[in-house]
Amino acid sequence: MAGAPIVQNVMTVPRSKPEGPMNLVGLTRQAMWDELIAIGTPEKQAKMRVRQIWQWIYQWGVRNFDDMTNLSKSFRAELAEKFIIKIPEVISKKISSDGTRKWLVRISGSHEVEVVYIPEEGRGTLCVSSQVGCTLTCSFCHTGTQRLVRNLTAGEIVGQVMVARDDLEEWPVPGNPNSETRQLSNIVLMGMGEPLYNFENVRDAIKIAMDPEGIQLSRRRITLSTSGVVPEIARTAEEIGCQLAISFHATTDEVRDKLVPINKRWNIEVLLAALRAYPKVSNSERITFEYVMLSGVNDSDADAHRLVELIKGIPAKINLIPFNEWPGAPYTRSSNNRIRAFADIIHKAGYSSPVRKPRGEDIMAACGQLKSATERARKSRKQIAAEVGLEG
Ligand code: SAH
Ligand code: SF4
Repeated sequence: MAGAPIVQNVMTVPRSKPEGPMNLVGLTRQAMWDELIAIGTPEKQAKMRVRQIWQWIYQWGVRNFDDMTNLSKSFRAELAEKFIIKIPEVISKKISSDGTRKWLVRISGSHEVEVVYIPEEGRGTLCVSSQVGCTLTCSFCHTGTQRLVRNLTAGEIVGQVMVARDDLEEWPVPGNPNSETRQLSNIVLMGMGEPLYNFENVRDAIKIAMDPEGIQLSRRRITLSTSGVVPEIARTAEEIGCQLAISFHATTDEVRDKLVPINKRWNIEVLLAALRAYPKVSNSERITFEYVMLSGVNDSDADAHRLVELIKGIPAKINLIPFNEWPGAPYTRSSNNRIRAFADIIHKAGYSSPVRKPRGEDIMAACGQLKSATERARKSRKQIAAEVGLEG
């Protein structure tokens, strides 16, 4: 037996109609079409209307139906009566000394999630959350100490991108695409939550972000990170087609069981088989193996050699992440020398092995430090230590 099965207790947000006016943000084009038909839009006009509304919302960042000047006044009034255009509400914003921004946003039900924007030379990456909390309990992850509260809707996921574009003041002036000052060039689903346990909403949100008549981010600029939900990996390739990152973090099942407990359900061998079969894998589409460097736990030379052996044949890039500490964490970060030695072995084996620079540490915005302020069920330090076998 490979250990106890992981019980999934995901409270899926109903995808049926909510009470009150429907939010257009997050609807697929087809769903928006259905809604327009339902309010009596003639079928031969509906496709065009979807296109117009879509462009107003996602290309120009408009939130008022009244500003949609290529629609008739009466149609605008009808839309305003039946629908809303709503994105998460910003509660607070912090800016790090390195320029990283972190927003705490509120979504319906008074839940809160964090969104992080990381400016870099020539690009800007937005780290988006997919769940409030997480059902998984990776022992080094701050989010993992918070139980899942709920899945985010597609509108709440793509809404985070819109919140960031608002704050970065980068929407173009309507009708003038040349006025765009785009900073946000990449999205990573590396915030709170396990995206593949919220597949449909994540898929719909990413598709909206990729739509050429809206936010227009290429699938190469969107990376979904998963702890290894094996059955959804092939589906990710087929239905989304974005870049894939895997939270690998260990080279033996014994260690990975402790760090990434989903490994008890789908172990390293099963995970690697799924990655080998990832249909989109090609030299230009490497899978990113994320590897958090934990002192004395997974950072030996032997680990580096094993890692290289394990992933042989998979077009890959290994992203070494110095552990970002958080209050009560049961691990410490590997020393710089250790990280360098580890990276060296990987590099010599022919893999690119960038070490991720911790960003926004002063505002607790670094990878794995996110956790909503409305934490419900924080586990005690003792409990975490007991689970990873560090007690005593
Ligand atoms: N649930 C998904 C995506 C969110 S976590 C996943 O696990 O892949 C994004 C990345 O941050 C993952 O690789 C995760 O393992 C890593 N991470 C989590 N906590 C961390 C920490 N304290 N320090 C460094 N990286 C961390
Ligand atoms: Fe969840 Fe990812 Fe954190 Fe694991 S690392 S607890 S899967 S958010």
